[in-house]
Amino acid sequence: MDKATKQKLIISCAESILAHADELTTLDQAIGDGDHGLNMKRGFEAVLADAESLSDKPLPDLLKAIGTQLVMKVGGASGPLYGTLSMALAKEVSDEPSSSSACEAFGAAIEAVKARGKSDVGQKTMLDVLVPVHEAWVAGGGAGLAIVAKSAAEATIPMKAIRGRASFLGDRSIGHMDPGARSSQLLIETITMVLGA
Ligand code: ADP
Ligand code: MG
Repeated sequence: MDKATKQKLIISCAESILAHADELTTLDQAIGDGDHGLNMKRGFEAVLADAESLSDKPLPDLLKAIGTQLVMKVGGASGPLYGTLSMALAKEVSDEPSSSSACEAFGAAIEAVKARGKSDVGQKTMLDVLVPVHEAWVAGGGAGLAIVAKSAAEATIPMKAIRGRASFLGDRSIGHMDPGARSSQLLIETITMVLGA
């Protein structure tokens, strides 16, 4: 992958998170502690500040460095989980991944998130976007992945939270979109747009 593409990916992901930070905060105010927007903003501001040097690195090193930043800067439950996702991807991809090898790496990274979060699909978390997107990718749906992500994030609204802070609310978590599902959707939408997938 060339430097310009890497830089565009980093900058676009960070800009999307920064542009939606208030919305992520509002979602987390409804079913959590209202810090998801701020957490993600802090993490992606740090990544954005390093965009130039990060994009000089081969893809595995870049993903490892971003993962470390996210763990250190995002905090909360989502920081270690997004950090795990990025660091697990780093272990699986080459600098020139094919769509099928990237898809396989994404699947392995999702398993790492599940292990780290002791979580799975259907629990109203980021996994409820990541897993359906991976399934659609396996099924060959390149152009449709952003649409799958959007409907998957919306599908968390009627779910009852079983993991994370929102689970403390029990049935009262029903009726709101999961903030981590929304941030995952934003990242997938941006990445597929930049890569023209
Ligand atoms: P915190 O919940 O510690 O305040 P954030 O608000 O930054 O952290 O992130 C909350 C999001 O993290 C949730 O909306 C959910 O998507 C995700 N999350 C929380 N716990 C888990 C888990 N065990 N597995 C997967 N995702 C989780
Ligand atoms: Mg929170």
